[in-house]
Amino acid sequence: MRITHVESYRIFSPAANPPFSWRKGLLGGPPDAEVAVLRIGTDAGVEGVAMLPRPGAGVIVEDLVERLLRDQLVGQDPLQRELHWHRIWELDRIEELPLPVLGLVDIALWDLAGRLAGQPVWQVLGGYREKIGAYASTATFASVEEYLDIATQCLDLGYQAFKVHAWGDARKDAELAARLRAHVGDDLPLMYDGSAGFDLPDSIYLGRALADAGFLWYEEPMREFNVTAYGHLARAVDIPLLVAETSDGAHMNTADFIAAGAATFGVRVGTQMRGGITGCMRTAHLADAFRLRAEVHGPEITSRHLCMAVPNTTYFESLITSTTVTKKPEVDLDGFVHAPAEPGIALPAGLDYPPALRPYVEDAA
Ligand SMILES: [Mg+2]
Repeated sequence: MRITHVESYRIFSPAANPPFSWRKGLLGGPPDAEVAVLRIGTDAGVEGVAMLPRPGAGVIVEDLVERLLRDQLVGQDPLQRELHWHRIWELDRIEELPLPVLGLVDIALWDLAGRLAGQPVWQVLGGYREKIGAYASTATFASVEEYLDIATQCLDLGYQAFKVHAWGDARKDAELAARLRAHVGDDLPLMYDGSAGFDLPDSIYLGRALADAGFLWYEEPMREFNVTAYGHLARAVDIPLLVAETSDGAHMNTADFIAAGAATFGVRVGTQMRGGITGCMRTAHLADAFRLRAEVHGPEITSRHLCMAVPNTTYFESLITSTTVTKKPEVDLDGFVHAPAEPGIALPAGLDYPPALRPYVEDAA
């Protein structure tokens, strides 16, 4: 089997409605934008697709396909995912590809392999479980009272844990953590994501407050450039750290966070930041060797597959962006997400796809 065609698509993705915020300094919920879909086809008729749901990705992926990727892939064996993963990193040496692009070909080739096998990708990877608990992962809201109300709504919907993305103000966020713990009681797992908003002194201050409030993990308080700073933080606080979400270099970089003693809870695996499915599985197995967690990032369909194939992850991350919390189709009322059943990996429903992509949309059958 050989790859015969490689196409990119620019898909209109409407702005988040209602819009939502992240911490001070970050852009909020995405505006109207063009996202990207990559489609790889073969002389056997089987195809694979992958979405890059980032604003602006449409034009980036179109450029890469026209200038590089089609030439690299046409004529190659689509089942040699390791070879193609290696080739992308070789291209990255000069191109310095945007991080989310590094895994795009890999995801499409896993999708293709799943469709060829007639199996969902989590099962082709080596299935570990068929359901997993979901945690509610908030956007940034206006007040402590809003967070408390949203936490109550999420618990009523069955969510098994609650993670906040707060304001990026160490004092205010510490107060929110204490108020949340008092509100939900001692038993609910709570997590905090700093979205890289702090320097080391504020990270230490907030980490001590999160430990006092009995939080389960403390995620990405600083930009993940200086691994030494994370080592200092890990030695200064008792709260376990979850690190290496957005840093470049996939498992190779994650290894340095672990070696520095910074990954005291574990590390992150997300297909957009860790080089696709292959990069995530490498990272998860690396963490497993050190008896660490590899917590799956984000609510994308690829994350549902990873959650079923990565033994050392705990939860599925379900994003809550509105003050009125409604049930998500993928999370049941006991707070579980179930393993996808369709072959391959689906594209998300709800966007206006061209005819060539419609057979690959979730629930298209
Ligand atoms: Mg995060």
